[in-house]
Amino acid sequence: MNLNYSSSHKNSKPESGLFYIVGTPIGNLSDISHRALNILKSVSFVLCEDTRQTKKILNKYEFTNNLISFNQFNSSKKIPKIVNELLSGKSIALVSDAGMPSICDPGEDLVKEIKTRGLSIICIPGPCAASTALVSSGFPSSKFIFEGFPPKKKSERERLFLEISKNEKTTILYESPHRLKKLLCELKVHCGGGREVQVSRELTKKFEEHIGTNIDEVISFFENKEVLGEITVVIKGISKPKKNFSYDKSELRQELLDLVNAGLSLSEASKYLAKKKNLSKREVYNIY
Ligand code: SAM
Repeated sequence: MNLNYSSSHKNSKPESGLFYIVGTPIGNLSDISHRALNILKSVSFVLCEDTRQTKKILNKYEFTNNLISFNQFNSSKKIPKIVNELLSGKSIALVSDAGMPSICDPGEDLVKEIKTRGLSIICIPGPCAASTALVSSGFPSSKFIFEGFPPKKKSERERLFLEISKNEKTTILYESPHRLKKLLCELKVHCGGGREVQVSRELTKKFEEHIGTNIDEVISFFENKEVLGEITVVIKGISKPKKNFSYDKSELRQELLDLVNAGLSLSEASKYLAKKKNLSKREVYNIY
């Protein structure tokens, strides 16, 4: 496939000594920007989580470059060398297997070190499973909590689920397919089966699907089914708990009497106080 992705935009050609964080597709290889391709093509070399995975992008867009492995197992050894290459004027791009580097993927430590050395970083943004699932859920999405993969340790898991059970904001979790059913059951215990949830599977790919609407329904959807593919879970926050105006009954009765004595009908006085105290009219009326 030969797409003309050249661009005259400023910043589309790498500058020496610059470090680029480049977002890549989370499934559909067409989801890559012209600018990302230009950078990947022109930097001195590309740091990849798995070179075979990144090679697929280079093959599709018909260009080559030096691909160097950078992953959780070799990162600490490689970071000083990478920094030296930048200091010597090389331009370097970092990609992960999918989506945005550093989001549950390698990159964080390297970026921190580069920043500490006062070197410049440019991010070429791209897809991210968390934001893709979030905006497809229809749940409130301007404020949200991203928790990445749930912890494995029991106590930490319980703490997370307890937090989620009380969160008013939408929460996003990554989960592997073989752990999804366990996660859903634990969420049910802590949040109740009626809590709204969406499981987004295989985003941007051929068999993309979004399964909802609440925990019980998602559990029964996957009953007797093997969960396959990549999974992102979006959990709607709880509705703001209604303010519990505890009120002193005798005080309220006195206020009601005062209003009635002042000339209001019982119905009018109850209506007025109900609004003021955020109570039902009947509740106030009956206190008379
Ligand atoms: N850096 C990536 C990003 O920006 O989304 C995330 C990498 S993390 C190691 C991989 C996890 O992201 C998967 O286990 C899954 O939970 C989620 N994920 C990645 N691609 C996905 C897709 N196409 N559909 C649903 N979830 C996906």
